Amino acid sequence: MTKQLRGKRISDLDVAQPRCLNMSVKKFRRIAGKRVEETSVHGKWLFTRLRPDDHLLLNLGMAGDLLYHKSDTTLPKKYQLRLTFKDKTQLTATFWWFGYVHLASDKELRKHKMTSKLGISPIDKGFTVEEFATLLSGRRGAIKSFLLDQKNVAGIGNVYVQDILFKARLHPLRMIQTLTEPEMEALYRSIGEVLNLGIGLGGLKYERDLYGRHGEYGPEYYLVAYKTGEPCPECKTAVAKIRTGSTASYICPKCQKP
Ligand SMILES: [Zn+2]
Repeated sequence: MTKQLRGKRISDLDVAQPRCLNMSVKKFRRIAGKRVEETSVHGKWLFTRLRPDDHLLLNLGMAGDLLYHKSDTTLPKKYQLRLTFKDKTQLTATFWWFGYVHLASDKELRKHKMTSKLGISPIDKGFTVEEFATLLSGRRGAIKSFLLDQKNVAGIGNVYVQDILFKARLHPLRMIQTLTEPEMEALYRSIGEVLNLGIGLGGLKYERDLYGRHGEYGPEYYLVAYKTGEPCPECKTAVAKIRTGSTASYICPKCQKP
């Protein structure tokens, strides 16, 4: 996004779903005339800096598309937000269920409720094994729910967490306070390996990049995720689907003992 959009000036906008904004459409129109600067990511949120003094915050929710258009020909039938730039190129945001399009000034950004409490992003340089150990120390509860809680670590979803836990040979319901140091280190390494594999492949198969190209991270790369009944890649035991709190988990019952 930074490469493609930086320097463009917003000339017009179309908000098809005012409910996803954090202000009225009238107030939101203040972005018209502003210049797009760099985009960064934190967890499931994208932050695009606008000049002067604004930040466009996007969260695609469960799934969605953020697409760049050189002309009107590729515009999707349905979108919640469309930005038109001065050079006539456009950007559309389409949520499959529900997403957020927020606007915050520099001052408002620090107080922005939904993003100011996000935990560290596991793809950040600051996410070291020491930092991870600090986050876990003194914490109670099951490791899977800890990893999925965006206030602890921002950016791990229910697809990635399955193989992260399998690689570390940890049961999703394993209590944090019982983790040994080698287990914590193994978990730290798995987080990096699984997320970087997904990122390197351009995301999940049903996800698309700015140009509409699909990701390649699909079942052929999964180890145990969504593989009920299939052999564990390590010991050939059949993968089991179990209920863990509000989410489903896929585990090898032999490699991931409770
Ligand atoms: Zn196994």
